[in-house]
Amino acid sequence: MTLVANTKHFSPHTYYIHTFGCQMNVNDSEHIAEILHQAGLRPANSPEKSDLIIINTCAVREKSEEKLFSFLGRLKTYKKKKNIRIGVTGCVAQLRREEIFRKAPHVDFVVGPDNYYRLQELVFSGNKEVATAWHTDWRELPTPLKRTSPISAYVTIMEGCNNFCTYCVVPFTRGREKYRPLNLILDEIKKLADSGYQEIHLLGQNVNSYQDPESGQDLVDLLERVNQIEGLQWIRFITSHPRNFHRRLAEAMAHLEKVCHQLHLPVQAGSNKILTLMKRQYTREEYLEKIALVRELVPDVSLSTDIIVGFPGEEEEDFEQTLDILRKVQFDNIFSFRYSPRPRTAAARLPDSVPLEVKRERLVRLQNWQRNIQLAKHKALCGRVMKVLCTGRSKKDPSQFSGRNEAYQVINFASPRDVFGQFVQVKIIDYGPYSLKGELVESGEKS
Ligand code: SF4
Repeated sequence: MTLVANTKHFSPHTYYIHTFGCQMNVNDSEHIAEILHQAGLRPANSPEKSDLIIINTCAVREKSEEKLFSFLGRLKTYKKKKNIRIGVTGCVAQLRREEIFRKAPHVDFVVGPDNYYRLQELVFSGNKEVATAWHTDWRELPTPLKRTSPISAYVTIMEGCNNFCTYCVVPFTRGREKYRPLNLILDEIKKLADSGYQEIHLLGQNVNSYQDPESGQDLVDLLERVNQIEGLQWIRFITSHPRNFHRRLAEAMAHLEKVCHQLHLPVQAGSNKILTLMKRQYTREEYLEKIALVRELVPDVSLSTDIIVGFPGEEEEDFEQTLDILRKVQFDNIFSFRYSPRPRTAAARLPDSVPLEVKRERLVRLQNWQRNIQLAKHKALCGRVMKVLCTGRSKKDPSQFSGRNEAYQVINFASPRDVFGQFVQVKIIDYGPYSLKGELVESGEKS
């Protein structure tokens, strides 16, 4: 929809993308960059050096929205000095289109996640525009040639969500579930493997409800096909909904040699009362059964989860049930947040009954509890030698590298030679609550 037509010609040469949020947004930014690249634009390494600034946004938490408006505030004076075009993309664009123009009239266009295929047109039009229409079909975007990492790539397999958990804004920002055709996913991954990618993450808000639109093949079928792609070494998938996590998928994790023994299974809360209010569609008992199932079939599986504290109606005994889930499962990692009401969600209509200081105190307690679990787990890894994909190197010290093991734990290690992009063996020599420290073990070297 054109809000204000502009006859001024606009032809940018350079672009800068600022990304907020999750892996899905990082992957979307890679696609956006490819679209701009195909339009003849080149990346700039700061907003000051670019003619086009795109802010790719996240709406999952209130805080990320605040960050967007503060970033836009900083661009206001800059736009007065230079003829630039500013676009807001992503989930906040979809959710807050009117508010963005009201609070930041210097924004030129707003594009929701379902409309990136229109980006070229919006960049060059010079008009003030909004593109937030929904589409029910999958619209393939150009495959990014340049990615954030040269070793590990995100590959989107589905978008949106049909679950409508009462706290979650995703169904309103990404729409209903849409599945990417299986042949397009395989083509992209084959190309990535041919160009040296070692690891891929299959991405979607709810990957275990994936179905190829043509054949109906599911995530397990897809994993089996990806597992056959030569050159690739590790396959991960995120995010899984506990309701859709089943024995067949756990079996695939156990027998497909490239599928990492790592599972992110968001529990969100430990009490059945809160799980019902959240409309998560499983009980704590059912969740624990799924954990037992995956541990039975994949005994060395590394488990992580998401937790929300202070959901409306959460009382001390509900919160203690959440701590109890942590105690019982012994997760390898958790992502924990204070509840904040999100627009249009069902929970936003409930009284936000837990005072802020109680939410804060519970979050600290939860994180301390988990910190101790992780410290104990990491301590037990000392002396072990493990396979690590080196994904980073220190800018300051050329002997320091970082990477991840199969469990997706962060490992910082020293190496006398450059091992960036390689699989290496690392001996764990120290640990902290959130990462491990190690040293390179050369082949033939005794550990
Ligand atoms: S399953 Fe995940 S993405 Fe879907 S509504 Fe629930 S929290 Fe949001």
